[in-house]
Amino acid sequence: MLFKEVVGQSEVKHKLIDMVQSEKIPHAMMILGPEGNGNLALALAFTQYIQCENKGEVDSCGVCGSCTKNQKFIHPDVHFTFPVVPKKNESSKGPPISADYIVDWRSALATDSYMSVNDWLQNIGAENRQGNITVRECHEIIKGMNLKTYESKYKVQIIWLAEFLKEAGNTLLKIIEEPPADTIFILIVENIDFVLNTIISRTQLIKVNAIDDEDVRQGLLSRFEMDEPAARRIARISDGNFNAALTAAGGQDSDNDKLLHKWLVCCFNLKNKPSATNGQNLFEWVEEISKIGRENQKIFLKYALFFLRECAHVSMTGKSEKLEGEELKFATGLSSKLEPEHFETLSQIFNRLYYHIERNGNPKILFLSNSFRIASVFKNEEVILEG
Ligand SMILES: [Zn+2]
Repeated sequence: MLFKEVVGQSEVKHKLIDMVQSEKIPHAMMILGPEGNGNLALALAFTQYIQCENKGEVDSCGVCGSCTKNQKFIHPDVHFTFPVVPKKNESSKGPPISADYIVDWRSALATDSYMSVNDWLQNIGAENRQGNITVRECHEIIKGMNLKTYESKYKVQIIWLAEFLKEAGNTLLKIIEEPPADTIFILIVENIDFVLNTIISRTQLIKVNAIDDEDVRQGLLSRFEMDEPAARRIARISDGNFNAALTAAGGQDSDNDKLLHKWLVCCFNLKNKPSATNGQNLFEWVEEISKIGRENQKIFLKYALFFLRECAHVSMTGKSEKLEGEELKFATGLSSKLEPEHFETLSQIFNRLYYHIERNGNPKILFLSNSFRIASVFKNEEVILEG
């Protein structure tokens, strides 16, 4: 991957390029930042730049033998580790390792290096099983790093989502502290709370923020034939997560604002104006949301979270830089009636619902049961919601 293919993040790109040019590449680094911000894309571009045989000032050449192999993720001096699950219907030959899924991995990277861990795990048929980086995989890493380099000066070991190492990370402490010559460990982490302190202290930390809205917008326009307002609309709800932006761009451009408005009105009425008609309205709404498909439901929930954040913003500052027209009117009305703890509760409901939708939960049951949860937030509140 070329640096120019990585969306935004120009400051980090400069830092990485500078490390190579000044020959100050740490032997172990941790790229830390939230999902969808391009951590993995940056690691891939950095690796390619390190190994490029004809590198320029700001990017790899993209055409040398090394670049060609890196672009296909088949360079013999680049090793990948990522969370996996045991393969189904296969006689057990020990705990799963990344090599079992290397073909799927290469094809996933070729499609989207901004994928979330859940995208990846669903892709390899994990369903509800948790991904893992096993002790057996750690031994494979040690074996690989002790091999001589084949073609390049450096061997690179990328560990995508080192938080999945859990206690198995102890196996790697020694090699990360005293790696064989010309070895570079790149650990990618989204949630540092789950990484062993002994690992963190042995790496150089590179923090990567969420992507700027403007860079997300430009990234979308360079990849899709879409109009400017649509790109801007998606950028503002994606919250710097390019994976979410890609999902939204590939989904149907539905009226999520109207859909959300209708839902909250249904939930409010359910508690405050109970009637057969209002109950029927909620059932119809659930039917409607169930038909749009899982990916669009996820986009809808991202929108709901975005809208809630903006409501909280309006509630605190009296204004929003991201909402306008009817959306702003609705947000102003809603935010003036909700207490801070209500934002928290609603946000937890939307997040939990997203989590279960993503893991193939039944949308009808999930949206219906969570409608009752939302309704209970509105209970006894003087919240005026006009449908
Ligand atoms: Zn090259």
